[in-house]
Amino acid sequence: MNRPLVSSDRMALETAAPSELPVAIIGAGPVGLAAAVHLLGYGIEPVVLEAGTVVGAAVRDWGHVPMFSPWGYSTDRTAVALLRRHGWTHPDEAGYPTGRDLAERYLDPLAATPEVAGRLRLGTRVTGIARAGLGKVRTAGREDRPFEVRYVDDEGREGRLFVRAVIDASGTWSSPNPAGASGLPAVGERAAASRIRYGMPDVLGRERDRYAGRRILVLGSGHSATGTLLDLADLAREAPGTSIVWAFRNTDRAKLFGGGEADQLPRRGALGLRLRALAEAGTYEIVAPFAVDAIEAAGNGLRVLGDQDGAVRGIEADEMVVATGLRPDLSILAELRLDLDPALDCPRALAPLIDPNEHSCGTVRPHGAAELAQPEPGLFIIGMKAYGRAPTFLLATGYEQARSVAAHLAGDHEAARRVELVLPETGVCNGPGRKTEAATCCGPAAPAESATASACCG
Ligand SMILES: Cc1cc2nc3c(=O)[nH]c(=O)nc-3n(C[C@H](O)[C@H](O)[C@H](O)COP(=O)(O)OP(=O)(O)OC[C@H]3O[C@@H](n4cnc5c(N)ncnc54)[C@H](O)[C@@H]3O)c2cc1C
Repeated sequence: MNRPLVSSDRMALETAAPSELPVAIIGAGPVGLAAAVHLLGYGIEPVVLEAGTVVGAAVRDWGHVPMFSPWGYSTDRTAVALLRRHGWTHPDEAGYPTGRDLAERYLDPLAATPEVAGRLRLGTRVTGIARAGLGKVRTAGREDRPFEVRYVDDEGREGRLFVRAVIDASGTWSSPNPAGASGLPAVGERAAASRIRYGMPDVLGRERDRYAGRRILVLGSGHSATGTLLDLADLAREAPGTSIVWAFRNTDRAKLFGGGEADQLPRRGALGLRLRALAEAGTYEIVAPFAVDAIEAAGNGLRVLGDQDGAVRGIEADEMVVATGLRPDLSILAELRLDLDPALDCPRALAPLIDPNEHSCGTVRPHGAAELAQPEPGLFIIGMKAYGRAPTFLLATGYEQARSVAAHLAGDHEAARRVELVLPETGVCNGPGRKTEAATCCGPAAPAESATASACCG
């Protein structure tokens, strides 16, 4: 098989047939690595470019967090088959990994197989992708040109690869939503950065000293906020003087704590039930619905100003944890032709299946290369990034996407279409999905009429 062509191979590029070029995978998270294994299964050469110095860099960042899906839902079948050929044993399928377990017990061994190790480039941050020699505007001959992938390595050196296709599996972990309710950073949010942590701080471990004995404002009401609130409740029991304010915008209290016992992932349901019990016991000072507008310094801490029921309210805190969701960083794709949903920033055909305004049950009609295709032939966005700004992404979805896209790139269109994933429901329903033929909310291949007539999870 051919090795990737680099900048000095410009002449070789001019003469190479596209099929001789590798496929670039952006990101060595669980889904990017699965895509590499699926491509190898078809005899296609992948090159995996990972910004971190280790695989699963994002997963390790939330390594302290217990996952809500068991091992059985957290590994890719084809990757598991490869690992088993090297003597690996699958962890107990019914057991629950943390993010760190997933990285150390699954991703590290996968990256160490000779098949994957030779295709990995760690410490390599992709900075932009284009059709080689063409800007975004030029149409003639576009699909015959390879992609040019630019990167910077961890010593600051710039480089490039020429590839036949690009699978962007770079996730959304490094682009958290800001605190500001408008979607822009709140006025003063950047200046207050030293007192704000985005995502899920390790409040019981590495970052304990930062939060023990402090007044902490947690903003948001999704899974990340839930995890942080539960950890902070434990911290407050152990560290005197710790107090927790919980502010969120959600006005639907019925869905605030998730599906509880109706959730088909019992761990996910249990988190919400525990949070509800703590909230009812008065563990948190709850300020809701609250829409953040501005953040200003107040003594050694912060004053967060926002709207509560039409009146301006200020919340004072020493520290703030912003858990308002994630969004994709589309800057590396700016020179390519994209067709994304205007609200969710995800591939357009996927939006009706995952739009949180209308659909929350967690099941997603099986989908693959057809739904993920972009106007730029050979470009696919998969994994967490494929969901854009929508929550409820599950690894099982990403692995199925990886399998289908690899099959498509190999020309195995029957296998690319054959998507058969059934996902566990959250037990929370918003009602009918968007009224399009693609918007079959629950289970495979439900007819459009039943999707529009039935509630979200039926
Ligand atoms: C706290 C938390 C808990 C979760 N729990 C579960 C669960 O229990 N079950 C479940 O199914 N799902 C869970 N998820 C959702 C999802 O499955 C994970 O986020 C998963 O890690 C997504 O995998 P991914 O490969 O798409 O992206 P990521 O794991 O985010 O990997 C993306 C990789 O791309 C790299 N990268 C980013 N930008 C670049 C660039 N420009 N160039 C090169 N590399 C780049 C990153 O460093 C990273 O290694 C959870 C998510 C979070 C945040």
